[in-house]
Amino acid sequence: MTLTYLALGSNLGVPIENLRKSLKYLSQKMIIKDRSKIYETKPYGEVEQNNFLNAVISVETDLTAQELLNVLQAIEKKMGRVRTLHWGARIIDLDILLFGEEVVQSDHLQIPHAELLKRAFVLIPLSDIHPQALFGKEISEWISLTGNSDDVWLAEESW
Ligand code: ADP
Ligand code: MG
Repeated sequence: MTLTYLALGSNLGVPIENLRKSLKYLSQKMIIKDRSKIYETKPYGEVEQNNFLNAVISVETDLTAQELLNVLQAIEKKMGRVRTLHWGARIIDLDILLFGEEVVQSDHLQIPHAELLKRAFVLIPLSDIHPQALFGKEISEWISLTGNSDDVWLAEESW
């Protein structure tokens, strides 16, 4: 079993319902260990769009990283996600942040997630459920280094 951390995000429809629904689908394919609080986040990048809700969960799985990505994309599709603009609005976005100790560098899959250390909206929820240091620094240090932690605030304690 591999302990892996997934990022969940939504800014279309009723975002909290989308996060809950994706968690239900995920729980049919893997063991959910822990979940962060839900945070509201100003959208990243230049695209004009609604705020996001973001959360991070930890799961255990026997899938490979590639199989896990396929499962995540199948859930995104089942939930009606249409791929439009990079960094555009979405019903659900499911990303692999960490997959055990594995490092993957292929065209369509990078683990650890390539943007992990740049995004307060990922690091802040991650720190709820990952108290250990990450790549040699406390997560709180990584969060201050992003410079974008003011764009993230608590939305829901439990969900
Ligand atoms: P983003 O999550 O960057 O906003 P998408 O969800 O549309 O954008 O993902 C674009 C592509 O990112 C996916 O088709 C997938 O192949 C690739 N990708 C690379 N690394 C990862 C990862 N760690 N988790 C999820 N997707 C990834
Ligand atoms: Mg994605």
